[in-house]
Amino acid sequence: MEQNINKLIDCIKNLTSDAISRLLALALGMLVAETAAATECPYCGGTRIVRNGKKCRKQRYLCRDCGRTFVTTTHTVMSMSHYPASVWKEVAADTLGGCSIDHTAERMELSHQCVFNMRHKLLLAMQDMLASSPVVLGKVSELDETYVLESFKGKKLPEDTGRPARKHGAKAQKRGLSAEYICINTGIQRDGGALAEAVNRAKPDSAELLEVYRGHLEDGTLLLCDGLKSYGILRNLAECTIKDINTAAPAEMSFFHLNTVNNFHSFIKDRYDYYRGVATKYLNRYNALFSLTWRRNTVLVTDLCSKLFHSGTADYYHSIKDIKTLRLLAL
Ligand SMILES: [Zn+2]
Repeated sequence: MEQNINKLIDCIKNLTSDAISRLLALALGMLVAETAAATECPYCGGTRIVRNGKKCRKQRYLCRDCGRTFVTTTHTVMSMSHYPASVWKEVAADTLGGCSIDHTAERMELSHQCVFNMRHKLLLAMQDMLASSPVVLGKVSELDETYVLESFKGKKLPEDTGRPARKHGAKAQKRGLSAEYICINTGIQRDGGALAEAVNRAKPDSAELLEVYRGHLEDGTLLLCDGLKSYGILRNLAECTIKDINTAAPAEMSFFHLNTVNNFHSFIKDRYDYYRGVATKYLNRYNALFSLTWRRNTVLVTDLCSKLFHSGTADYYHSIKDIKTLRLLAL
């Protein structure tokens, strides 16, 4: 082996720079393929793995422990997909960024159905992630509900709704909280996670609140809410204190408020409007997305604004003239 390598090195010394580049590219490609190779069986976790031919141009592996075969995408969100990880990454980025399916489809030159399928596979996987490591509300947490219009987007309006179909952006038939609205229960830990789940139309009753918050509350939490009586039932789930913010003295209102959860509602409403609604049957899939993205998005925006909106020695001002003239790329 050692002798062969020395011979090879002697050969390389005589190569042209162009040939060396090609050799390097080949070697790097082999290295990348090597790191991407499977090291663990996705079925049993075994490590006695051998290569076992190709399947749809993907390397197939055989597990010597359980005898099953797999490819590197088995059990991933990309399983059975013909699209490479680079395409999935773009669709994931657009999903997290709040882009509509049509926007992504047009940008990536893919069909609406194709992006729809990828989007919903990602949303379902996010729900799986949240189910396996649930958001737990602790310390000071704010609970409230927000309402979105029921939507049969993508489907003919069922006859039993007793109302005409709405056009994009149209309002509800009746004023106030009618049965046309779906309630999204939301809970936010002020310095932690966000939870959003829809179970029904009207204001949530005790049974629904138990269903939404079971497994999501930590002992010792101070829960702030707007006085809806049903929230009292949450004491059955954890040793928590429930405070109705309406009973706070004026001097305490800077602490006893629901501003954080209301910001989350604005985030949900903005996204919801931008998508021109979400079919109600998919609402909880999107709620998973809202839960996972809201905090990061808000942190990013808050961080950026705290740097750019406050006067300091760093000068971030740019004039209209700057916009027209500064740092333009001239090719
Ligand atoms: Zn196995």
